[in-house]
Amino acid sequence: MPDLFGRLASFAGVGKPVTDGRGAVSLHNVTVGYGGNLVFSHFSVDVDPGQFVYIVGPSGSGKTTLLTLLQGSLRPQSGKVMVDGIPVHSLHRWQTGVIRRRVGCVFQSYELLGHLTALQNVVLPLQLAHPRIRNPRAYATDALELVGLGDKVDELPDRLSGGQQQRVAVARAIAHQPRILLADEPTGNVDGPTSGGIMELFAELNGMGSTVIMATHDEWVLSRYPAPTIRLEPVPMRVAS
Ligand code: ADP
Ligand code: MG
Repeated sequence: MPDLFGRLASFAGVGKPVTDGRGAVSLHNVTVGYGGNLVFSHFSVDVDPGQFVYIVGPSGSGKTTLLTLLQGSLRPQSGKVMVDGIPVHSLHRWQTGVIRRRVGCVFQSYELLGHLTALQNVVLPLQLAHPRIRNPRAYATDALELVGLGDKVDELPDRLSGGQQQRVAVARAIAHQPRILLADEPTGNVDGPTSGGIMELFAELNGMGSTVIMATHDEWVLSRYPAPTIRLEPVPMRVAS
């Protein structure tokens, strides 16, 4: 069993009471939009440490916007956004790296660099986020083993299937052992069995204590892997459940 299992579990605080907001996400009275177009108005929602939740809603309802807020790339116009105990709403733009070091992100399009091997695709962002990390290759190798790609570390992305590329993207997201995993329609580009594999992996990470917040409108995933949902209505109506 790769080291990452143990490291992730201890990092995620499994078995220990969480008292400082670690692993938690909270939006309080958040209003956000692009220019004059509001996507959320006075929107509030809480996700507890270690929870698995879906963000669901039709295209354009704000799923990606919500995840972008949580990864610190978008500022709310008003309200509070707490991620892993950090007040994202009051960070300066140059401080957003703090958030990216604490969350892991998986996207629908895997966004792997085609000229780098699977291992290099995981090592590079790890080194950029944590310049002083001593053994990035060890962390990256552990993460790739955890997602079942221990024998593919030296492959270029175009030699991997879609599902394997998405697994590299998951390894990249978890190599720095985030307490919170954000995923934006991660099964949007893969077939049913591959979706199942990705969901099993997320469930495993969640079982180790990571909070998982996943945007999806994949009905197969929602029925096969039920979990609480944050339901977004078409703009401008907003209801959290
Ligand atoms: P979803 O992920 O649910 O499809 P999005 O968060 O991408 O929804 O989009 C929510 C709304 O915000 C849409 O009306 C979309 O057109 C708008 N939007 C998203 N990104 C931008 C952007 N970068 N600039 C302007 N408007 C945007
Ligand atoms: Mg989206």
